[in-house]
Amino acid sequence: METIIVDDMVFDPEAGELRKRLLIEEGSEDERDFDRMLAEARSVAKPKAVFRQALVESAGPDRVLLDGVTFSSRVLAVNLKGRGRALAFALTSGREIETWAEAYAADALLSYWCDVILEAALLCARERFNAVVTGTLGFEKFSTMSPGSLEDWPLSEQLPLFSLLGDTREAAGIRLTDSLLMLPRKSVSGLLFAVEERFESCQLCPREDCPNRRLPYEAGLLKRKFAKGP
Ligand code: SF4
Repeated sequence: METIIVDDMVFDPEAGELRKRLLIEEGSEDERDFDRMLAEARSVAKPKAVFRQALVESAGPDRVLLDGVTFSSRVLAVNLKGRGRALAFALTSGREIETWAEAYAADALLSYWCDVILEAALLCARERFNAVVTGTLGFEKFSTMSPGSLEDWPLSEQLPLFSLLGDTREAAGIRLTDSLLMLPRKSVSGLLFAVEERFESCQLCPREDCPNRRLPYEAGLLKRKFAKGP
């Protein structure tokens, strides 16, 4: 199946929400500076999503074969067992806005503001991608897993993921560094699959004080749902 690029997004975040998050006071000089920066960011940002549907050729006990590409993960295998398809995806704020933010890198405060604006651009890509997933692609309920989010599915699994996606550098400006991190920095990648009951890797991750936690840690879940049979 072919890789699809979605690059028709309009980046138009709610300025008030971002200012609130950054504790910028109404009527202040900071507000004027921030609004000017946000206007610049709006004019250059081109968030993007790239994805490819793949047939689940086999799943289990701790490997998954998607369109001829092998992924090694027990948790992924359990989640994909019995599913007909999965989506490989990568989402990004885009190179354009990251290049724009470089002009503010020397100033710690402005650089932090840029970071929040870039995150908003990535969120824009995620929301557009989710709309395609539930609309055009017909997924009613779905979950995602990202390489590196669990010991069971390490960052090295970026390699099969990006081999499935094909040339994301040309298509969406997303590339892997030698240490398998993504550039632009505000990018996410993973596999998406249908579920009956919501699953988040956070349920299996005991890390405390994670600002991005989406569901509480469930100490017994790994054994209950993902342990290998006798
Ligand atoms: S709790 Fe944080 S580190 Fe752990 S999987 Fe969730 S987002 Fe990742």
